[in-house]
Amino acid sequence: RIVSAAPASPQEDALERALRPKLLDEYIGQAKAREQLEIFIGAARKRGEALDHVLLFGPPGLGKTTLSHIVAAELGVNLRQTSGPVLEKPKDLAAILTNLERNDVLFIDEIHRLSPVVEEILYPALEDYQIDIMIGEGPAARSIKLDLQPFTLVGATTRAGMLTNPLRDRFGIVARLEFYTPEELTRIVTRSAGLLNAPIDAEGAMEIARRSRGTPRIANRLLRRVRDYAEVKADGRIVKAIADLALTMLDVDPKGFDVMDRKLLEAVVHRFDGGPVGLDNVAAAIGEDAGTIEDVIEPYLIQQGYLQRTPRGRIATVAAYRHLGVTPPRGGGS
Ligand code: ADP
Repeated sequence: RIVSAAPASPQEDALERALRPKLLDEYIGQAKAREQLEIFIGAARKRGEALDHVLLFGPPGLGKTTLSHIVAAELGVNLRQTSGPVLEKPKDLAAILTNLERNDVLFIDEIHRLSPVVEEILYPALEDYQIDIMIGEGPAARSIKLDLQPFTLVGATTRAGMLTNPLRDRFGIVARLEFYTPEELTRIVTRSAGLLNAPIDAEGAMEIARRSRGTPRIANRLLRRVRDYAEVKADGRIVKAIADLALTMLDVDPKGFDVMDRKLLEAVVHRFDGGPVGLDNVAAAIGEDAGTIEDVIEPYLIQQGYLQRTPRGRIATVAAYRHLGVTPPRGGGS
């Protein structure tokens, strides 16, 4: 996929970092999460204590990593960043935990992918700022308790339902990130264009925003592609007509759906008569991993009302039929 919400190349990563808002005031949208954090960060700062552990969940590219950096910046502490799959052994996590300074933030991305043995040493760390580590080997091996500095864990996951209960229960603050409205994304695109020194007008920004699947990471990527197009094919100014031509070239349709979105809708409508169809059958039909469908592709289609997730499987709605230019079956769809 040319424009996905998945992690990108090192060059794109560097650009992404450059566009990242640094403080809560610059973080656009997510009013609910922002308000909660503002209050709890303010209180923790006043008391000079570590902030409660924070769980952020929602589809990729909505700003979880950005928010974790902002939490550390607002608290005036260091941020250590790692991810579930990287922490293979308990000692990998122990090394990070024992190096944290007072009230630091530890960000663990994809926290649902922590191995059970690593998760195990996280519990006492979260609860009592202590870890049990084994020293020595064989019959002489013994476990000792180590005190840690107070710290805040910020965990990020695409689905809160994938966390074990004991882990989920240890987060005092839980925030669900939502898809952004076109208006919020217009503000993000306009801000990013300013940072990139790319001339853009209000309608050009709106066009990119409308077609970004509610996702800032996609909005920023599309902005950069449209800017390239405007520089090569026109006078460099990003206006609506240029944005439209560039996005069409990138296979982003008028609703902002990309190739995989359309493949999924087409499969449900044409190959499974509109559903209900099980996730694994959809995955096999379009050649995509079931987890990616569930975490990345479906949430936006469901939020926009093109797909429904029911206990019997996925169902295409009337809107999906219309979008594909197909007459919905009588009494079918929903
Ligand atoms: P996630 O961790 O949820 O996958 P990121 O935090 O990496 O998402 O966000 C992706 C990009 O989107 C960031 O580089 C940032 O520039 C932009 N972004 C995310 N949220 C916002 C926001 N609320 N306001 C402005 N830009 C944002």
